[in-house]
Amino acid sequence: MPVDPVTLARDLLRCASVTPAEGGALALLEKTLSEAGFSVHRVTFSEPGADDVENLYARIGTAGPHLVFAGHTDVVPPGDEERWRHPPFAGDIADDVLFGRGAVDMKGAIACELAAVLDHLAANGGKPKGSISFLITGDEEGVAVNGTVKLLRWAAARGEKFDHCILGEPTNPKELGDMVKIGRRGSLNGTLIVTGTEGHVAYPALADNPVRRIVAIMAAVMAEPLDAGSAHFDPSNLEFTSVDVGNKTVNVIPPEARARFNIRFNDCHTQGSLKALIGARAHAVAQGGPFRIAWEPSNADVFLTKPRPFVHMVSDAIADATGRKPELSTSGGTSDARFIKDYCPVVEFGLVNATMHKIDECVATADLVALTAVYRRILDRYFNNPP
Ligand SMILES: [Zn+2]
Repeated sequence: MPVDPVTLARDLLRCASVTPAEGGALALLEKTLSEAGFSVHRVTFSEPGADDVENLYARIGTAGPHLVFAGHTDVVPPGDEERWRHPPFAGDIADDVLFGRGAVDMKGAIACELAAVLDHLAANGGKPKGSISFLITGDEEGVAVNGTVKLLRWAAARGEKFDHCILGEPTNPKELGDMVKIGRRGSLNGTLIVTGTEGHVAYPALADNPVRRIVAIMAAVMAEPLDAGSAHFDPSNLEFTSVDVGNKTVNVIPPEARARFNIRFNDCHTQGSLKALIGARAHAVAQGGPFRIAWEPSNADVFLTKPRPFVHMVSDAIADATGRKPELSTSGGTSDARFIKDYCPVVEFGLVNATMHKIDECVATADLVALTAVYRRILDRYFNNPP
């Protein structure tokens, strides 16, 4: 039986599910999905040094094609609750706007996914022409080790195969229909460590100042663009985020200097090619002086879901429902789509992202209705004319 997306979103917002707390959000989804005929699994994952986190997987249908809706019910902390116009976990609606932590990121979209799916099922005798699943994690906003990565692995071990995925992260800068994400840049962190020889600042000839060398290396690394961008991506970018010597004196040349940096990279690069490029630029100016670059392990590789029939179908459904032709974008930070892409093509479309992670996070109830209509159109097209 169909559900109202606004009521479901409000009920989800009343579950205080700050990572890693479940807060009743998955229990609510389990109840709603079970009543609609889904087989629902609640799975808890553990990792030494991290909190246990609950996740949910639900499926209806056994045939293909298999469309999976993905999302997360956990939210970031509300910050100073006194500064909220409406309490962050009250689900207040004022002037047709629903307030609460997670309104757009992304309980609102999960409510729309459910409302659209249940409506689609009701219109088709309670069963899809293929299969529909929900892959919902409680560990997206935290360290993300007990969430989507493990849930995908768990599902694969059960023999689950997905054909396409829609991830309901908030993707629209201003209005519903602005933007679909068809890929994400990769992210890589490193630390440049330059060693020298300490000594009295008045006798520099007896020392080797690593600060001089680190400044030269940093300048060389930043001097030229990493690339000129590609068909679907902006140019890659390196930003230094911290420069540290830790010297508390005024008269000692320090023995070591460090600089941390992050690179957001496009499909012109791999992690390996970037490491080689940065290393070569550094070596060119270090003139044999000792330095090294410590790279942190990264699970955030660049990916692109090529603009083929599935992407066009989603984009057309958005245009039909909202009157806007969405931009196909790869901007912004990483998301769980970087894990899903290893299993099936994934696109991201959700609510307006202007208030995510902020005080007074909120969503217009009209947007919830409109996003439900978008997902509903996608479902009809997907199962009537599979891409
Ligand atoms: Zn999110």
